[in-house]
Amino acid sequence: MTETTQDQETTASQLASRVHGSVLTSANDGYDQDSTGFQLLEPHEPAVVVEAADEQDVRAAVEFAASRGMPVAVQATGHGRSSAMHGGVLINTRRMCGVDVDPQTATAWVEAGASWQHVIDAATVQGLAPLSGSLPGVGAVSYTLGGGIGLLARRYGFAADHVHHLDVVTPDGRLRRVTASDEPDLFWALRGGGGNFGVVTGMEIALMPVARLYGGCLFVDLAEVPEVLHAWREWTASVPDEMTSAVSVIPFPDLPMVPELMRGRHVAQVQISYAGPAEQGQKLVEPLRALGPVLQDTLRELPYSQSGAVFDEPDQPSGYRGTSLLLDDLDPQELTTLVHQVGPSASNSCVVGLRHLGGALAQPPQTLNALGHRDANYSLGMLSLTETSELDSVTALHDQLLAGFAPHALGRSLNFTFGPLDHQQVRTAFEPADYQRLAQLKTEHDPHGLLQANHPIPPTTD
Ligand SMILES: Cc1cc2nc3c(=O)[nH]c(=O)nc-3n(C[C@H](O)[C@H](O)[C@H](O)COP(=O)(O)OP(=O)(O)OC[C@H]3O[C@@H](n4cnc5c(N)ncnc54)[C@H](O)[C@@H]3O)c2cc1C
Repeated sequence: MTETTQDQETTASQLASRVHGSVLTSANDGYDQDSTGFQLLEPHEPAVVVEAADEQDVRAAVEFAASRGMPVAVQATGHGRSSAMHGGVLINTRRMCGVDVDPQTATAWVEAGASWQHVIDAATVQGLAPLSGSLPGVGAVSYTLGGGIGLLARRYGFAADHVHHLDVVTPDGRLRRVTASDEPDLFWALRGGGGNFGVVTGMEIALMPVARLYGGCLFVDLAEVPEVLHAWREWTASVPDEMTSAVSVIPFPDLPMVPELMRGRHVAQVQISYAGPAEQGQKLVEPLRALGPVLQDTLRELPYSQSGAVFDEPDQPSGYRGTSLLLDDLDPQELTTLVHQVGPSASNSCVVGLRHLGGALAQPPQTLNALGHRDANYSLGMLSLTETSELDSVTALHDQLLAGFAPHALGRSLNFTFGPLDHQQVRTAFEPADYQRLAQLKTEHDPHGLLQANHPIPPTTD
């Protein structure tokens, strides 16, 4: 047994006596799954994993790590992991997936490891909907800490704007109740500032009175309807706030496992989520349906429980890198260049997505939070399935695509970033004064930077 392994075993047995859940080292079954999750690139390599069973486990794990100066990271599903920890304590929360809905107050208490699917299942039976996003499999807490732009975004705003209460273990090992009146600074920082200030063990969120949507996707071949991105952009200028929509350009490989209709094509997938009567939704999308030949049309009235069908994203673990920008506008010339760069004439296999923002997203919340760039009207995201050996070329491609949008860029969108950012890039996600305040709060709560957040805001050094 090497000394390192022995150290890990000692740490694991010391921690095991303090927590209810299992404590794993790399020698144990389950360690790889807990450290990797959905994102297969660059898994965490902690000394130990604590499979937290409850908030006391989270508190004990943080307190233990802090008392020894060990780094701490947290993972629910792994969908958002952008950088890996080496050594230290990884708290895996996926067993803490309870959701408790109160139909009287239209709220839900959501535990740290619950995915949106868990929340959707509990809320929709009461005729209520959470502010969940395109993929129900992502973790509700991290999505919300990063802002959370969902299927009802233009109607109700960011998920972070509808948080009432968070329970948080701060890096000093204290379990704190964080609300607008108790711990107002942390309440401001956590909603938008991500996992930089503590490990959230649960949150109370508002649910919306939405039982049904009119939504789904329209698939068109970009070679046949090259103007689809431009037409979607123009159409977004005319739609009400109940309409939240997006468009992705997806290069489908010419392979037998791809549905025959899509095989070998560059497909534009227009995603529609209309929170209003189906007949009105149907009328609103008429101009999009009329654009040209449609490969597939899944638009229909659907219960919110099936909201994953709107984007219809795959939910199998894979290795991927992605990046994103918030934009104040989309320039038609920029779109023309984009179609050239990732459309039928391009040789790369990058998926590009544009989302329409504005509406309620532009309104300040009742209690201000750290989220930046409410004035963004669109987001641009790109994602490439990749392996470690191709990371440099993928990053270069993403940088090149982003550069074309620089004139309208407001900053990064951290939720839609799947890969490491440097501190300057993280800073662009926030208003300058807010970033200063976040860095000061980081210094106050985690002066030694023990908590390794996905997109870190470092403590100030002065
Ligand atoms: C296919 C896909 C679709 C998506 N769609 C949307 C969308 O529609 N809208 C949107 O806004 N975002 C979307 N996202 C982004 C998603 O919200 C973020 O990636 C989010 O971080 C995922 O959270 P997770 O718990 O699933 O991931 P994890 O990788 O488990 O967590 C990501 C990070 O969050 C932090 N964290 C996790 N749990 C806690 C906790 N309890 N306390 C403190 N910090 C914590 C940690 O720093 C961790 O590294 C999507 C992502 C993917 C991959």
